[in-house]
Amino acid sequence: MDLCNQTIIREVLTRHGFHFSKSLGQNFLTASWVPERIADSCGADEHSAALEVGPGMGCLTQELSRRAARVCAIEIDRALFPVLAETLADCGNVEIVPGDVLKTDFATLCAEKFGDMPVHACANLPYYITTPAISALLDSGVFSSVTVMVQKEVAQRICSSAGSKDYSAFSVYVQYHADAQVLFDVPRGCFVPQPKVDSAVVRMVPYQAPPVDAGDEKLFFSLVKAAFGQRRKTLANALGTVLGGTLGKEGILDLISSCGFDTRIRGERLSLEDFALLSRTAKQRLDVLKDR
Ligand code: SAM
Repeated sequence: MDLCNQTIIREVLTRHGFHFSKSLGQNFLTASWVPERIADSCGADEHSAALEVGPGMGCLTQELSRRAARVCAIEIDRALFPVLAETLADCGNVEIVPGDVLKTDFATLCAEKFGDMPVHACANLPYYITTPAISALLDSGVFSSVTVMVQKEVAQRICSSAGSKDYSAFSVYVQYHADAQVLFDVPRGCFVPQPKVDSAVVRMVPYQAPPVDAGDEKLFFSLVKAAFGQRRKTLANALGTVLGGTLGKEGILDLISSCGFDTRIRGERLSLEDFALLSRTAKQRLDVLKDR
């Protein structure tokens, strides 16, 4: 069954009395080259498994089923279960699991469904949970790769570098955890209902170990969050919320200059390596103060 054919989509969904839910980000693919290309790029093969988020009617699930040894797809909308039972009837290696991606324990689920097999995460993500879903997938530490379709602007944000207008705390977060690449764009006309924005597919390959030494990860991410939280402020002013109480204004300026940065620099100019240096140096200073 061609699950991207608009006539088939309409006929099957009408027969099951299914209505698209905007609040669940239900925009289904209508161009078969897209799920084919996502499945081809995600790395799933006969020796590995695929974990899909949000199968919808199953167009990507079907492509994953053709390539991976096993596929498990998490779907929140129970109204799609009878639809999927029909559309994926011939896919013996697929299991649909009811659930919310944001509440899923991926380590337990993958161990239960796939044992020791490497697992590739794959999805046409619902727009309303793009960033928390990517964070949940990367934080789990269980995937060999994470290949997702997201709004084009989020894809650009994920892969952008220091100084660019798209660079954000989320860019630093993803680039700390994974090697990220935008693979290809997907125009809005490839979905039903048609969204207001274009999409792009991003592939993230998690690092075995972080690419930089952040010192204390919690401090590192709180510095990153503060630096981007008030983009128009200088780094020195933005860091006041995290370090003002301990290092004071002078201490923050001294910290910044001892890292070799201009004291008037803005946080968005700092690379991943720069943030790591800032975090390690801040940690040393905080430790000295604590021992006093
Ligand atoms: N994969 C299908 C496709 O490409 O045509 C559907 C993609 S549609 C953008 C997003 C899918 O994610 C829908 O099936 C929706 O019901 C499901 N979904 C939404 N929120 C979810 C959540 N929190 N957990 C799991 N699935 C979710």
